[in-house]
Amino acid sequence: MFRKILIANRGEIACRVIRTAHRMGAATVAVYSEADANAMHVAMADEAVLLGPPPVQESYLLMDKIIAAAQRTGADAIHPGYGFLSENAAFAEACAAAGIVFIGPPADAIRAMGEKAAAKALMQQADVPVVPGYHGDDQDDDVLSGAADEIGYPVLIKAVSGGGGKGMRQVNDPGKFASALKGARREGLSSFGDDKVLVEKYLERPRHIEIQVFADQQGNVVHLFERDCSVQRRHQKVLEEAPAPGMTPQMRRAMGDAAVAAAKAIGYVGAGTVEFIADVSHGLSEDAFFFMEMNTRLQVEHPVTEMITGQDLVEWQLRVAAGEPLPLSQDELVIDGHAVEARVYSENPQKKFLPATGTLHRLRPPMEGPHLRVDTGVREGDEVSMYYDPMIAKLIVWDRDRPSALRRLHDALERYEIAGVITNVNFLAAVAAHPAFAAGDLETGFIDKHKDDLIPAPGPIPDQALALACLDMLLARQGHAAPADPYSPWSLVDGWRLNDRGHDELCFVGDDGDEITVTVHYPTTGGYLLSLPGGEMPANGEIDDGGTLWADLDGLRVSAAAVHDGDKVTILSGGRAHRIERLDKMALRDFDLEEGGKVTAPLPGKVVQVQVEAGASVKKGDPLLILEAMKMEHTIAAPRDAVIANIPFGPGEQVEEGAELVMFEVEVEDS
Ligand code: ADP
Ligand code: ADP
Ligand code: MG
Repeated sequence: MFRKILIANRGEIACRVIRTAHRMGAATVAVYSEADANAMHVAMADEAVLLGPPPVQESYLLMDKIIAAAQRTGADAIHPGYGFLSENAAFAEACAAAGIVFIGPPADAIRAMGEKAAAKALMQQADVPVVPGYHGDDQDDDVLSGAADEIGYPVLIKAVSGGGGKGMRQVNDPGKFASALKGARREGLSSFGDDKVLVEKYLERPRHIEIQVFADQQGNVVHLFERDCSVQRRHQKVLEEAPAPGMTPQMRRAMGDAAVAAAKAIGYVGAGTVEFIADVSHGLSEDAFFFMEMNTRLQVEHPVTEMITGQDLVEWQLRVAAGEPLPLSQDELVIDGHAVEARVYSENPQKKFLPATGTLHRLRPPMEGPHLRVDTGVREGDEVSMYYDPMIAKLIVWDRDRPSALRRLHDALERYEIAGVITNVNFLAAVAAHPAFAAGDLETGFIDKHKDDLIPAPGPIPDQALALACLDMLLARQGHAAPADPYSPWSLVDGWRLNDRGHDELCFVGDDGDEITVTVHYPTTGGYLLSLPGGEMPANGEIDDGGTLWADLDGLRVSAAAVHDGDKVTILSGGRAHRIERLDKMALRDFDLEEGGKVTAPLPGKVVQVQVEAGASVKKGDPLLILEAMKMEHTIAAPRDAVIANIPFGPGEQVEEGAELVMFEVEVEDS
């Protein structure tokens, strides 16, 4: 076994690998960027080496620096995690050349599966069913669009080197093919350095079902069953589970055999995942699943497999890389119970899941135990920066059966306290509780199909949350006032005023932008009487030393956390988070005089392309420019019909959140 392992990654996966390495008696070395100097993975490792500035090209992707760090610290193996250099054949070779074990498959196997097109061709030869489509070398525009016509719309254009749902465009009619092709090529080139694409049939009711495979250096190959990852947004997984709902033993055997055949065809070693897409227009069927791609690394969602098999897949990786045979044979592997993983992201479901940056002012995961696991790489106070993936944590639950596991998942999500950044926690809880999800009625379009249930439109702040926000302010004010003369009416903080009946007004702005005023009265019997939009509510309570607000709202006792962040307060109570802005009535609001006169950047990023010029007339919804942020392209569209006045940024320029990207001409009213 290895003495010292360097982990060439960051975040939760680096922490995950470090935990197993330590349990197995190996020392660990972390690498980090300047942005991660105080990160959790650095704190957990025995040693850590600085790579460089925050951008991944200047830190986590620097092969030479990482290998030099391994040599300097005497590490005998490198674990690449997922993402970054995990599927980079040149890196695997560079490790070998430096006499360091790469904990992953042989470089040739990475290369064989590295391109989706070549991988499909290879799988066809191995008699593994593939999605019908064109995966040839000829990249001529007409050849590709001709192939699309032949395949029949809708089609999917995929960057052959793509991953993580990037570089993909669904095209529903031929008129949109050319621009979609451009987009897929551009994203492929900028994210993966390769603009080659393939075109395949877009299945209408697909389910994403993948098989975990493992191979050792002795030539043994097993599979560790399937995972269903159909709940996706932007072709990217958000909830994964094992086993797959409705899976039959026959279908499992057929898929398992196909996955093992795929691994054998390329002389695979280590952990890998063979991703299939199943056409479920007529239910799950053994002759309607197709190879999509193989990920030659540990997968983000590997914990669900660990939970149902009782195995530690990182331990398996280390043993296999050290030359040991697979710990178990196919017959010894069994499925026990059901596991579900929910990926907790810093993102806004109401804004098409736009990633969000910010500080995790409060981060309290539910308590871990045999039924519940939290894999994370951040702690309270940490930053979700624009440089890396916005995943905060993976919440994994296990129980004897699926309904029990889903109940646990819902309960755990309700207990998850996060404030400071917008998250998808409420959204995940809505999925966990959705009847169609409970029924196992899955498809990759699940979120879109049920979006009205899962993503309620921003509405007014509920009275209870408002009452908690008021109480928090009132109690804090009470606590902070230190009267010199306790009997003076001036030092009372109960709103007593000369010539006044004694009330205060507290003003807030909700998510929907509406202003709300709550009148506070001070009954002689103590506590407060709040005039809320829905009526009057007596309220009282206290804030304990731990910062928890214990409230009595007209006889209903609830606890809450109020997390402050500038003018905003996040009220966490009853499994929901409400972000409420406090308006100081004395301060003038910074009204935007030219409301609608410009478009600002929704998040920090880089301008990739400007699609309009000054002077041009645009219609509402027209694309104005493309911004690349957090590894994704975002099309910025016109919010209304307008004439462009100015576009201050050009391609390649970095912009801050809120930067004015496009200015419109001031409209002159006809008189
Ligand atoms: P899965 O492992 O389940 O397939 P995804 O496809 O959603 O998960 O994400 C994995 C892919 O996303 C990686 O191949 C990589 O391209 C990208 N990715 C995810 N996390 C990171 C990360 N921390 N750093 C860099 N790339 C990442
Ligand atoms: P990535 O490398 O980005 O993970 P994949 O090829 O694995 O790319 O596809 C990602 C997701 O896109 C799948 O999980 C599925 O939801 C969707 N998808 C891929 N191919 C098809 C297809 N032919 N028809 C419908 N959906 C597809
Ligand atoms: Mg994939």
